[in-house]
Amino acid sequence: MRQPYIAGNWKMHKTIAETLSTIMALRKDLDKSGHKVMIAPPFTSLQAAAEALKGSSILLGAQNMAAEEQGAHTGEISVLMLKDAGAGVVILGHSERRSLYKEEDSLINKKVLLALKHALPVILCVGETLTQREQGQVEKVVGEQVEKGLAQVGAENLKMVTIAYEPVWAIGTGKNATPEDADAVHAFIRGLVGKLYSKQAAEDLIIQYGGSVKPDNVKALMSMPNIDGALVGGASLKPETFVPIVEFNK
Ligand code: PEP
Repeated sequence: MRQPYIAGNWKMHKTIAETLSTIMALRKDLDKSGHKVMIAPPFTSLQAAAEALKGSSILLGAQNMAAEEQGAHTGEISVLMLKDAGAGVVILGHSERRSLYKEEDSLINKKVLLALKHALPVILCVGETLTQREQGQVEKVVGEQVEKGLAQVGAENLKMVTIAYEPVWAIGTGKNATPEDADAVHAFIRGLVGKLYSKQAAEDLIIQYGGSVKPDNVKALMSMPNIDGALVGGASLKPETFVPIVEFNK
């Protein structure tokens, strides 16, 4: 049985004070949630968020990290710093990193391997653009992103990896994939992981859907056999919308 895993990606939103007040509101409702829940505030809020989450079951995530452990990389944040600040998960390969900051699969793979070397669990994001979908390239694109993103990740470390399928055309646009369309891609990813690793690894793999997940569509998405959770952007910023998403089955 795969435990539902709902993660909130706050992107470049919230000061430290706003992070703390949001966490206080979330803890009231979500500390007792039976689901795995994670929030990823900006780097500047991580340490304060870690303090505020002490004793909570809500996990703390980071939104990105450098591909190097340390050194002359002005403006970058390393895996060691993330762990030091209290992050217990890192999101890698988000489509905004891929498109706006030109991150390629090889760089993302380097980050994945580095995070896993330091026992920092990863959410690896994959997804096609609208043009790629219209050209019938969903499986080619997503398959390549999964295969290249996981290159050299051993079976023992795959347990620390969650995959988030986020069709680029659905992120922040209000358009979401139908539950059936999303489930078909999730099934494809699970099948691929089965081929790359094992049937058991594929069965255990948590695959989140991301792209305009809202309180009114989460239930239908989560009812699909291969959708195990959600990576939520906009709707994770406010407790009024994030709490009902996490509690989709109440
Ligand atoms: C995201 O940023 O990962 C995301 C899915 O955003 P939104 O929920 O706003 O579409």
